[in-house]
Amino acid sequence: MPTGTLSLHPVSDGTFVARPEYFGASGLPRPHPEFFSPGGAAWLPIGCFLVRGGQRLVLVDAGLGPDLQRLPHGMRLVGGQLLTGLRALGVTAADITDVICSHLHADHIGWLFDADARPVFARAAIWIGQGDWRHFVTGAGEMLPHIREGLRDSAVSGVARLIDRDTTIAAGIAALLAPGHTPGHLCVAVSSGQQRALLVGDAITCPIQLDEPTWHSMGDVDPVLAARTRERLWRELEDEHTVGVGAHFPELRFGHVGPGARGRRFGYTEGSLR
Ligand SMILES: [Zn+2]
Repeated sequence: MPTGTLSLHPVSDGTFVARPEYFGASGLPRPHPEFFSPGGAAWLPIGCFLVRGGQRLVLVDAGLGPDLQRLPHGMRLVGGQLLTGLRALGVTAADITDVICSHLHADHIGWLFDADARPVFARAAIWIGQGDWRHFVTGAGEMLPHIREGLRDSAVSGVARLIDRDTTIAAGIAALLAPGHTPGHLCVAVSSGQQRALLVGDAITCPIQLDEPTWHSMGDVDPVLAARTRERLWRELEDEHTVGVGAHFPELRFGHVGPGARGRRFGYTEGSLR
């Protein structure tokens, strides 16, 4: 676990009610009662992570914001809790020095700007994969108008920093290219000594995809590349010193890939990262 000078705190902005259809599975080949409730829904977080290190307070992903978004098949996202969660950690929006966006889907950037397109994290640099900038901000990708306007302003003011290669953001904190779910999707590696925590964003939606490798994620812009990236990340999580968590992993718990009855299994790591 990252300790010493770095600390890592999961904070959920709210709830993502997912159904098998999200993963491209219309029926359930196996019931997966560990994941889907009897009504067929998985109640997942809308994850963000706060990394404290030296003078930097880095937020990884900015939730859905104070909003509700309805998705097909009765799925929905309900956000709004991020700033409350940060306050519980003794952090205000003005304290954040950097926001790293794993990607530019609505449930990862909702708190970046208020309804008038003014920055919520007024002092923060915003780090974004260049492929996502091209797809969502200057391209045709779907994005709420006030977020797009805020991002365009932040490019003019120099607040937006575009990433086109693996990049060190601060000591022990690196953004790594992990395209597929979106063209410029980033993972964030937090390292301390030999230990490494990998924040995989939506490159892996849930550990269940290790058991069901044909399940993709609704919204994968390039499903073939996304599957390749997922497999690469599973392999990284086999490393004994690496743990990982995605933005929608149940309870935002970290885990690790080890041997299992069907080849490999994802096991949650016990203990706290704080
Ligand atoms: Zn997401």
